[in-house]
Amino acid sequence: MRVSFIGMGIMGSPMSRNLLKGGHEVTVWNRTPEKCEASRDAGATVAASLAQAAEGAEVVFLCVSDTPDVEAILFGEGGLAESLTPGQIVVDMSTISPEATVEFAERLEAMGVEMLDAPVSGGQKGATEGTLTIMVGGRAEVFERAKPAFEAMGRNIVHCGPHGNGQRVKAVNQVICALNILAASEGMLFAKRSGLDLETVHKVVSSGAAGSWLLSSLGPCMIADDWAPGFMIRLQAKDLRIASEAMEAIGAPHPGTELTTRLFSEAVAEGYGENGTQALARLLGWEG
Ligand code: NAP
Repeated sequence: MRVSFIGMGIMGSPMSRNLLKGGHEVTVWNRTPEKCEASRDAGATVAASLAQAAEGAEVVFLCVSDTPDVEAILFGEGGLAESLTPGQIVVDMSTISPEATVEFAERLEAMGVEMLDAPVSGGQKGATEGTLTIMVGGRAEVFERAKPAFEAMGRNIVHCGPHGNGQRVKAVNQVICALNILAASEGMLFAKRSGLDLETVHKVVSSGAAGSWLLSSLGPCMIADDWAPGFMIRLQAKDLRIASEAMEAIGAPHPGTELTTRLFSEAVAEGYGENGTQALARLLGWEG
């Protein structure tokens, strides 16, 4: 397929390279152009503008930070909407508001352009290895058209229902992830303060009932005092804001999310926003 990819961040850059590996013809664009280099070296064409990225692409993928960023790229001055033509598909793989997603899809539909929301889970590792879980909202036949491209980036690719449902499922995912990160941080800090051998604790606990993808992924980073981001604290705080709003809107009980929303916001305020989510342990008092 001929595709374009907007957003060469931690996730978008390796995802675009997996599209190339999957045999697709790929054009990339990033606000900071230098971040296109790795994909260009792998065989992608670099677009000079969003208009150029839109031209001739069957599917235009986006993976940027937050709701206002997606809105600006789609509908802002010089945005994709000025150049997209009927029959093209926009696939937003960012994690953003489900309600805004539905509104964006309607605005594009009025132009004859299809949209899918397709947020992902699996982190930088999943993006690099092409093993992401992709949760998709939108029309089933559009999902089928975009599927060959999804298959180059992910392993578990699930159509979750109409527009916005990909984002709603992702919000559920993020609620569970945040509580897991808190559990891993608090438990590992308890082990450290107890003077236990952290490698041993991590090995034993990861293989028992307390094991989780997050403990396995983030525990070794905590032990090594490695705070480099796979997924940034500020993005997890953003996801919890999206989830909290959705839960409040329907009256879903969310005591755990109230706590993690407060803690992740505090972590941003304390200057850990650009650290990976394992740095929640630093907010709790991990020294190193
Ligand atoms: P990142 O490394 O910070 O990349 C963000 C990208 O968005 C950059 O390419 C940035 O461009 C671009 N961007 C942001 N605002 C923009 C704007 N207004 N106009 C144009 N471009 C803009 O973040 P990431 O980790 O790749 O995350 C991207 C999305 O995936 C987020 O929604 C995140 O929640 C989601 N996600 C991330 C992970 C993960 O583990 N990292 C996992 C699942 C989902 P510049 O380079 O110019 O700043």
